[in-house]
Parts: sequence; structure tokens; C-alpha cells
Amino acid sequence: MKIPSKKVVALFCLIVLVVAGAVLCHRPDPVEKSAYIMGTLVRVRAWGAGADRAVPEALERLSALEQALSANLEDSDVARVNRAGGRGVSVSSATGDLLGEALRFAGLSGGAFDPTVGALVDLWGIGTEQARVPGDEEILSALERVDWHGVRLFDGNEVRLEAGQQLDLGGIAKGYAADVLRDQLKREGIRSGLIDLGGNILVFGENPRGGKWRIGVQDPIQSRGGVLGVVELREGSVVTSGTYERFFERDGVRYHHILDPATGRPARSGLLAVTVVSPGSLEGDALTTALFVMGLDLGIALVNGLEGVEALFVTEDGRVVLSPGLEGRFTLQGEGYRLETR
Ligand code: ADP
Ligand code: MG
Repeated sequence: MKIPSKKVVALFCLIVLVVAGAVLCHRPDPVEKSAYIMGTLVRVRAWGAGADRAVPEALERLSALEQALSANLEDSDVARVNRAGGRGVSVSSATGDLLGEALRFAGLSGGAFDPTVGALVDLWGIGTEQARVPGDEEILSALERVDWHGVRLFDGNEVRLEAGQQLDLGGIAKGYAADVLRDQLKREGIRSGLIDLGGNILVFGENPRGGKWRIGVQDPIQSRGGVLGVVELREGSVVTSGTYERFFERDGVRYHHILDPATGRPARSGLLAVTVVSPGSLEGDALTTALFVMGLDLGIALVNGLEGVEALFVTEDGRVVLSPGLEGRFTLQGEGYRLETR
């Protein structure tokens, strides 16, 4: 057999190296689409065959969920229940399921999370043109219409409120929607994905860029975009709620959109923000709202009693407090904070 010349061998090796390099370094580009849905900027990114079709379908599904769940859309399940004035209304089984979960978190949080805050949300109008500081009498009268024990759910899809009560699922709907979208994308064969509903992040599958997913957490005292730190996770949800999301200021006081069902006013629990890291986004969303109202001491006790759920609290006095499971998985980047674990 003829022995190939050194030049041919070198050329062959070069070709092998180039091809191997191209295969190894090839990071398939994801399909990504954004839209403004549920009052927020939504971004869905997916890797894998079928992503071209699955991503737009996910956004369509999100619009359909908004149609059912938004208290502000006239024909939504929630608006129909709210107009029924104490009579029973049948809703989609998805809305019924979500309401069941909302009631579960109301119980778990001792009413800090309350899906009947609608009357208070309307009164304060935070995030709308009509935002104002209501009088004490008005707050007391709205508070009489806030109590999750008044909600009845029959056969999973018939809902009845007490007369005058108003449902508002704004504190849980985005988390629920993120879970629904993840399940749909997985069914369509998507390997890995990232669902971002205005800062509620859910990731699944392996990070195609290698290693764990790294999710930035918003710094509540910097304007949008400032990073408090980075959470690492294999997959799951990272949801943050804080005073910076939606608010107005009057006479030097900030009135934000997380209301305390005990006082009828924006919660003042000594916190600026809460982040929950959990397997699913529904629990993350409900819990961030609940923990924000509960404050650090009650909140950390609740989290530490829940399997698989971790949280990070940012206090008004400049501390970042982690539940034990986040130790080593959160890197602080914000300046001027003290890091603690409890
Ligand atoms: P965001 O929507 O900014 O991510 P949250 O998940 O904390 O923030 O939800 C806040 C929304 O939840 C409010 O705009 C309101 O619709 C509703 N809400 C406010 N306070 C409560 C509460 N105590 N329990 C349940 N829902 C609430
Ligand atoms: Mg929430």
C-alpha cells in the first residue's frame, strides 16, 4: 500500500479538526418571539425541532389565557364572575383549577394572598390613570368585600362569590400561564426553553449554552435593568415581586401594587422585593405576593416549611436574606447590600 505523504496526512488532520470543531461548537440558535400580553412584555425562547411553530402557538395560548383571566376584559371568566353579584357562574376548567390553587395559597398564607382583593385593587387604581390615595372610609368599606372564605367553587367549574366581592387573579395568573406554556412547549417536542413573563422566569430542559441556567434578579432600588444578583438552577421558576413594579408617589410616599388584605393599603412589611425559586411558576407567583405581604419573619418560616421552595428577601434596611437552599446558588452583584442566610 502506498504511504500517504506528510502533506496529505496534515491536510486530512486539518479537515478532521475543522469538522469536529464545527460540530462541537455549533450551538443551535433558539427561536424567540416577544409580545405585549397580560399587561407585560413576554418573551418565549425555545430550542429544538418544531420551535418555529411551537413558539407562536405558545403566544397564542397566552392571549387565550388572558381572555379568560383578566379582570379588565369584559368577557373574561373573571369579569363574568364579578358581574354576577353573588350568583353562580360557570367558568372554563382552567379558570376553575387556577381559582382552586389561588384559594389553596390563600389558606397557606393565612390570607396574605387573597384572590378577592379586587375591590381594593379597583379603589387604589395603581398602575392606571385613576390611581389615588383613597380615604379611610372608602378603604374600610372595600375591605368588607375582601375575604377569600366567601368564594365557593362547585364541581371545579362553577364559581360563586359573596355579593359585592371582586376576584382579581393578577397575583397568580402569570405564574399559572408560564406553567401552561412550558407544558405545551414540552408536548410539542421542545427540548429546552425560557419563558419570561415580565420578569417571571421559567426555564426547562438543559441550558443549550452549557452549564446551569443563570437568571438575573432585578435590583429593587435601581431603575429597570439593574441586577441584584444571579440565581443558578437546573430548571424551574424564578419569580420576583417588588415595590418597583407598579406604583405612584404622593407627598414623598410610594404606593405600590401589592396590597395587604389586613389593612387595605399597600403592604408595608419592611421589604422592597421578594424572589421565589421553585419547580413551578404558579407557586412562585402566588408566594412572592404572599411573602411580600407577610414580611421577612413570617415569610421565611413559611418558605422553610415548603418542600423544594426557596426565597430571597430584600429588606428596606439593605439586607438580602436567603433561605438555606439558595446558599451557594445566588451570587450577589448589587452594591451596598449585606448578605445573610436564615
Ligand atoms: P406582578 O404582577 O407585578 O408580577 P404580583 O405577582 O405581586 O406582581 O401581583 C400583584 C397583583 O396581584 C396586583 O396588581 C393585584 O392585581 C394582585 N394583588 C395585590 N395584592 C394582592 C394580595 N394581597 N393577594 C392577591 N393578589 C394581590
Ligand atoms: Mg405574584
